[in-house]
Amino acid sequence: MIPIKEEENKRILTGDRPTGKLHIGHYFGSLQNRVKLQNQYETFIEVADVQALTDNFNNPEKVKRNVNQIVMDQLSVGIDPNITTIFLQSMIPEIAELTVFYSNLVTIARLQRNPTVKTEIAQKKELFKESVTYGFLGYPVSQAADITAFDATIIPVGEDQLPLIEQCREIVRKFNSIYGETLKEPKAYLGENKRIKGLDGNEKMGKSLGNAIYLSDSKEEIAKKVMNAITDPARIKKDDPGDPSKCMVAYYHNLFTKNEYENICDECRKGKRGCVACKRQLISSINKELEPIREKRRYYEERPELVREILMEGTKKAQIIAKETMKKVKQAMKLDY
Ligand code: ATP
Ligand code: MG
Repeated sequence: MIPIKEEENKRILTGDRPTGKLHIGHYFGSLQNRVKLQNQYETFIEVADVQALTDNFNNPEKVKRNVNQIVMDQLSVGIDPNITTIFLQSMIPEIAELTVFYSNLVTIARLQRNPTVKTEIAQKKELFKESVTYGFLGYPVSQAADITAFDATIIPVGEDQLPLIEQCREIVRKFNSIYGETLKEPKAYLGENKRIKGLDGNEKMGKSLGNAIYLSDSKEEIAKKVMNAITDPARIKKDDPGDPSKCMVAYYHNLFTKNEYENICDECRKGKRGCVACKRQLISSINKELEPIREKRRYYEERPELVREILMEGTKKAQIIAKETMKKVKQAMKLDY
């Protein structure tokens, strides 16, 4: 974690891929931090549609459909468009240009060794079959372009992103050592909840993994998901002692019913708490947290023109900054004709 005082006047860049709506992993892992930090730093939030195409190139409709959803999710959790810039990646051509320049500074072997890329390629076997695309393997390079295009140094992310930030730092160092001190080295900013598990017990809740509780889920959807969540399989009768460490319901109580968590676990271990009642309590805690978010979201859902305007205004502002960076980069690379 970065000591905040040292980092005053710095810029934040963070973002999401429009591959689906945002979920509680984003909320606890990143969105809450963004909302908090936007008052301290100039914040840029990228809707990473070009990056989303690296593993959804065959489904551009899905990416397009989710752009507005991502913007609405940000606004509904409290991102303030008057102080934070939300922009669309594909409308900043400098990012693509930087990606080409940076691609000379990273080897294929290094990309193949990146643990996040490795895990994701394994998860996407069906899409990539026996060989991954050049675009997907190279997405850490384009992510380095996202960050450096805005001179951002504070990057609030979930834990899965750490190897990508490290890769970006390497590219920056290499660039500066060859072309002269031009780019700033970013640092990851990890919150308290760096990796939220999925409903299926998977180490990561992910939009593309089908194991998420979405911020926009209705009460009925929440109830259905929680009722089907994995609990301690050894517990059959209501008064059997349970093991909360094997139960996803207990895991989410720790996020949504934090004050009572110890007591909930204690009752479970002693066989004094039935799973159905425990799930009902969780459903109610989740709804309590999500209701104000849903309400704000409804406001924006009824105003799609406003959502578009916020994104376009933010994009215009982002374009100006990316152009300034490009000028510096081209000068450094002797491409300033
Ligand atoms: P996809 O499955 O399409 O990659 P995703 O759920 O991983 O989607 P991203 O848009 O890739 O979401 O990630 C946006 C940000 O949210 C990143 O900073 C990422 O680290 C963070 N994040 C995503 N999932 C989690 C999670 N389960 N716990 C904590 N942070 C998360
Ligand atoms: Mg992801």
